[in-house]
Amino acid sequence: VTYYSIERKTMADSVIQTIEPSTSFRSEVEDALAAAIVAGEIQPGTLLSVPTLAARFGVSATPVREAVLQLEKRGFVVSVRNKGFRVTQVSEQDLRDIVQVRRWLEAPAMRIIAAKMPKIPIQPYRTLATAIVAAAANSDFPAYLAADSAFHLSILELVDNKKLVDLVGELRKQTRMVGLVGLANSSELQKSADEHHLLLDLLSEGRGDEAEQLMLAHIGHVSGWWAGQPEDSLLP
Ligand SMILES: [Zn+2]
Repeated sequence: VTYYSIERKTMADSVIQTIEPSTSFRSEVEDALAAAIVAGEIQPGTLLSVPTLAARFGVSATPVREAVLQLEKRGFVVSVRNKGFRVTQVSEQDLRDIVQVRRWLEAPAMRIIAAKMPKIPIQPYRTLATAIVAAAANSDFPAYLAADSAFHLSILELVDNKKLVDLVGELRKQTRMVGLVGLANSSELQKSADEHHLLLDLLSEGRGDEAEQLMLAHIGHVSGWWAGQPEDSLLP
């Protein structure tokens, strides 16, 4: 069985470590690059060359090119003629628009979920929340982002509306948090991580209104300190 993982050291070292053989190089490369771009480890304006990335990941150019084209669809890079791809600047307007729609979709859903959560086993969600807290403690942003998405999307599945889960998943894929890399070992990152357990406390006790308010604040972190700006400064 060939399983490929991207070996990483700390955030200070860089992202792109050798990748070992895997069943899907394309998605492995896409996930690694996306996490680095989302967290600000690869800064806006950086020029990415497919041959160079392929050499650094230790894979052929084809899956790297496919991965970068996926990132172009997500708005993370634009192609630069004869040079490769440039990491796009984060548009404040885009970030604000994404956060606003996510608040509309994700926060009210908490009331529906709070009506169901008290009747089901909570342990799987606790496990994900604990993974988020551990990733924050290790300043492991790819792990943080993956566990955070898994947590929120699995909770939203309780609404029993596939469109909602798909839409939020898509919006999450487009969300950039370039200030994240600056939050390594910070109390802000730990605070946001701890909110997942707090959210589960509220949901499992059927406290929907409070869960909705917490979710509004939680999503607000994206446009606040995660973007390197004061909380809610981008929100109307
Ligand atoms: Zn979260």
